Amino acid sequence: MNKVWTTDYNELNDFEKLKLVNDGLDIVERLPKYQKSGFESIDLKERNLLKWAGVNVQKPRNAGYFLMRVKIPSGVMNSDQARVLATIAKDYGRGILDLTTRQAFQFHWLTIETIPMVMNILNKVDLQTIGSEGDCPRTIIGNPLAGIDPNETIDTRELVQEVSDYFQGNREFSNLPRKFKISISANVYNVGHAQINDLAFIPAIKKDGKTDRYGFHVYVGGGLSAQPYLAQKLNLFVHPGEVLKVSIAVTTLFRDYGYRKNRRHARLKFLLADWGKAKFETELLKLTGPLETAGIDLTRGWNAGYFYGVHPQKQSELNYVGLSVPLGRLSAEDLLEVAECADKYGDGSIRTCLSKNLVLANIPTENIAALLAEKIIRRFTPYPKPFVGYTVSCTGKEFCNLALVETKEFALRLAQTLDKKVKLDTPLRIHVNGCPNSCGHLQIADIGLRGTIEKLNGEAVEKFELSIGGSLGMSAGFATTLQGVIPSDRVHQVLEDFINFYKTQRHFQESFN
Ligand code: SF4
Repeated sequence: MNKVWTTDYNELNDFEKLKLVNDGLDIVERLPKYQKSGFESIDLKERNLLKWAGVNVQKPRNAGYFLMRVKIPSGVMNSDQARVLATIAKDYGRGILDLTTRQAFQFHWLTIETIPMVMNILNKVDLQTIGSEGDCPRTIIGNPLAGIDPNETIDTRELVQEVSDYFQGNREFSNLPRKFKISISANVYNVGHAQINDLAFIPAIKKDGKTDRYGFHVYVGGGLSAQPYLAQKLNLFVHPGEVLKVSIAVTTLFRDYGYRKNRRHARLKFLLADWGKAKFETELLKLTGPLETAGIDLTRGWNAGYFYGVHPQKQSELNYVGLSVPLGRLSAEDLLEVAECADKYGDGSIRTCLSKNLVLANIPTENIAALLAEKIIRRFTPYPKPFVGYTVSCTGKEFCNLALVETKEFALRLAQTLDKKVKLDTPLRIHVNGCPNSCGHLQIADIGLRGTIEKLNGEAVEKFELSIGGSLGMSAGFATTLQGVIPSDRVHQVLEDFINFYKTQRHFQESFN
């Protein structure tokens, strides 16, 4: 028998027992076999292990379709990669792609016959799907402006790539108790959403008589889902050259001591809550060797992943342009046009954001006017309306087997209605989730809507629970859930009244949060 970590074999949950027999990466190797034998030949339990390849059975469960996530570490990509993504969507994914809240792209409608082919095509342009799902280190998220950002202390692109490459397909870490999310960003506005990751690096400086040294502070144990926890900051200062070592050590602690009895109690946040920070740091230092104690935190606030408008880069005469992609959904043609603009007006650089939007980078100032006149840029406008531009939804009932309600069309209709009816001088972030999980990051929204079902005269009626006031700013906190549920066709009216109430009651320049 393989290793059972620190949990007794008899206490392991069923999925853990399955993982001991079949490592997720073994299943990846079986893809060519399944390609020949077909969807029906895949054992029901093993279908869950396909997640290690970055694919997940699409709704309805038995129709033989999959969604697939493609990792874009820190959201940094180029126009060649965008063209390949668009072409795959056109050829195999019925022409659509979704951006995700971890800076990834998501295809739908793939089949077991097409998946190995799609993975090969992606690999040729250095795009990976392995590890975008499953109980392993997931896509490393970070600053989409890395390398061009006037608000960053360190260009984190190489660090992100180093950590990402280390964990990619690494069998030492392919059987963690649950998913493991890492964020690395040196932007002073917390664009990597540090507090909701299992492990996060944020910008810090050490001033101790020697030359000032830029590095990172470390957060551990954050995560959303049904039981959200904010990550806690350790008393450590980590040099850029130590980021990989610390990432390996924290992941090792999670692998060896994380809980494997109950999957709902398996994330790092539960281990940290039981151990406390002091014990966690002691165990971490046993693995890393000595690290410096914390320096000065350089975080100044929170940018929730929005970069709209035209902005100067740290390189003179170059600009980045933040584009609004409503609900993060694109057609293959949209993405081809974006790639075309990235080449025609810049150097092909495209970035993906945690808010499910896009940035075009390295645009010379003299090209800005012509870029803004392009049809696709007028549609994915850098100056969106306050609701359509700041509404996020999860995948929902259209493709997700766990969803209770439809989310994407609902959220778009809601945002468009509010844009027509409510005049607002400040953006308001609305997030919509289709079930008690939190792929739509509801708990960090100004206004969160969680879908639920109630039976009325034997009919299932879609309703939404409302929560307000989530933020990862300087006084971070999760949204508070209000009592009661709202039928889906009444949500726009309730929010209209609610936002108007905020407008009439707020003090001068008081934010919604
Ligand atoms: Fe599916 Fe729920 Fe995640 Fe939405 S929040 S994508 S419904 S699991």
